[in-house]
Parts: sequence; C-alpha cells; structure tokens
Amino acid sequence: MAGIFKNKDAGFYVDGILAGDMSILSRAITLVESQNPLHQKLSQKIIDGVIGHTGSSFRLGITGVPGVGKSTFIETFGKEVISQGHKLAVLAIDPSSSKSKGSILGDKTRMEGLSTLNNVYIRPSPSGGTLGGVTRATHETILLCEAAGYNFIIVETVGVGQSEITVSKITDFFLLLMLAGAGDELQGIKRGIMEMADALIITKADGVNVERAKAARAEYAHAMHLLQAPESGWNARAQVCSSVDNTGIKEVYTMLTEYKQFVINTGYFIHKRNSQQYEMLITNLDEQLKQTFYSSPMVKKRLEEIKNNSSGIPIHPFSVIQALLSEFFKSQGRY
Ligand code: GDP
Repeated sequence: MAGIFKNKDAGFYVDGILAGDMSILSRAITLVESQNPLHQKLSQKIIDGVIGHTGSSFRLGITGVPGVGKSTFIETFGKEVISQGHKLAVLAIDPSSSKSKGSILGDKTRMEGLSTLNNVYIRPSPSGGTLGGVTRATHETILLCEAAGYNFIIVETVGVGQSEITVSKITDFFLLLMLAGAGDELQGIKRGIMEMADALIITKADGVNVERAKAARAEYAHAMHLLQAPESGWNARAQVCSSVDNTGIKEVYTMLTEYKQFVINTGYFIHKRNSQQYEMLITNLDEQLKQTFYSSPMVKKRLEEIKNNSSGIPIHPFSVIQALLSEFFKSQGRY
C-alpha cells in the first residue's frame, strides 16, 4: 500500500468505511483482493470491525452470455434503483479476466452514465486468482460496501462458465438475462443455470424485436414451469425489457421487492443468508489452512526434497503425506 495508506491499522479503515469514504473503501477492497498474507490478515481485521454494520442490502446476481445486454441493463436498471432512494454498488466476478486484467467494468464505455451518479460505486472485478478466491473476495467486498452504506448490491458475472453458480452463492436473487433467439430458444444456456434462476429477463424487447421477445418469454415461462421448484418456494418468472427504451425495467424492480417480501415472510431470506455465511466461512477456512500449510518453511523444504528425489525409490504417497502433516502440526505447536 503506497502513500498515505501505508502502515494504517484496521481501525483507520473501519472508521473510513463506516463514514462512507469511497477512497478508503476502495483501498480496503484492494486488501481483500490481495494474495499477500499481511494484507489478508489486515483485511480480516477490517471485516471483523465492520461486520456489525453489514447484511442490510439486497444482493442481486446478474448473469447472461456476453452481448446479452448486461451492462446496458445495469446502467438503466441502476438508475431506477437510485431513483428508489438506494445507494448502489456494482461488483463483478470474472476469474477468467487475466487477459483484460479485470478492467472490463472499469472500461469507460461500460455504465458510463451510471458511474458518474452520486450514490453509485462501481468496482471492476479482481484480476486473476482462483474462482474460490474471487468468490471470497467478492463476498467480502459486499460486506465492506454494506458497511459503507450501500444498500443495493449488484454482482455481475462477466466471465462465462462456473462463475454463474458462484454468484448465486453470495446473492439473494439470481437474475438470468437472455436473448430472444430465432427458434432454438433453449440453446446455449445450461439447464442447471436456468434452474438456479429466480427470474429470467428477455432483453432488447424493442423495435422489430418486441414480438420475438414476447414469444420467447412465453416459451421460457413454460420451460421454467416444468423445472424443479426452487427451495425458496418462489415461482421463477420470465419477463421482457428494453434497456434502451427503458421498458420493463420498473417491473424488474417491483418483482425484486415482491420477492424480498415473500422470502422474508417465509423465513427463507434469513435461512439462505445463514447458509451462505457458513459456506463462505468454510471456503475461507479452506484457503487459510492451505495458505498456512504451504507457506511453512518446513513444508516448502520437504516438498522440494520430495520433488528432487533422485534415489529411484518410489514414494509412498500416503505415508509421506501423513509424515508431512504430523511434522507440520508439531511445528505449529512449537510456534
Ligand atoms: P454485455 O456484454 O452483456 O454487457 O452486453 P452490452 O450491454 O454491452 O450490450 C451488447 C450490445 O447490445 C450493445 O451493442 C448494446 O447497445 C446492445 N443492447 C443492450 N441492451 C439493448 C436493448 O435493450 N435494446 C437494443 N436494441 N440493444 C441493446
């Protein structure tokens, strides 16, 4: 951490975040995303310091193939969210973005109008790292944003693949954006993803595309009806919208309000948050166990010896692992 943020303790970040200071929030998120063990330790202290001020936002996951209109939707929908009096944070999950160095959301051309508004915080996706690591970082970023007063959080998946499944693990509602295709409507999207969706929105329902979008909506509504009922008890919906004409956008907001009320009444909202919290804790524990183990000088030395084994004698993996673990735990005891 360079400049004025050097050697700042957790209290400095906690105070800044709770005061809604965007620049301190951004630096804290950088710590959360960092692989450096010292940064990670500090970020955990910051999370601990703000945890009592988290949890009060609505967390919306948005996914869809590239070109479906995610950023245009977030731009238009985000303005609706702001007009409803919320403070909005937009985050991204893109573990495959080493090529773009995670700059997709930082691109000036994406969500240009939204990014200039007050009460909006847009954070590019962290670059590189494992999907588990990116998920943990995004979950913790949600917590930091909530502590800074953002009460509506959008998590967009920029990459395609596993990240859709992950985003559903850290959000309250999973929105799948789809294009009205010609004919084969169900192509290109895995059934599993559709099963996870709480709603499916057909984008670009404007101009000559209106009728096609409506037909696709009907088809999807029927297909979703045939899928297994979700655990929440909520009947997944299919709607159409145009982010360009700003039609169907308010309806998406209304639907989310209805969903929230529904799951609060049934108790599912708290239930889902609790199980997500537990799962994140286990993911975190996993990461920290691995990190502690592999950064131990003793483990590094032993692994190097095993790698360079030139005796020609085969290694017995089970006994080697047992010996390594037992030596590691002993060394921790002495520590
Ligand atoms: P993303 O890759 O999913 O983020 O998609 P974009 O938001 O970048 O949109 C891809 C293309 O679709 C762009 O050329 C947009 O201008 C266009 N687009 C997005 N939303 C709409 C819409 O509601 N109507 C129309 N006609 N075009 C749209």
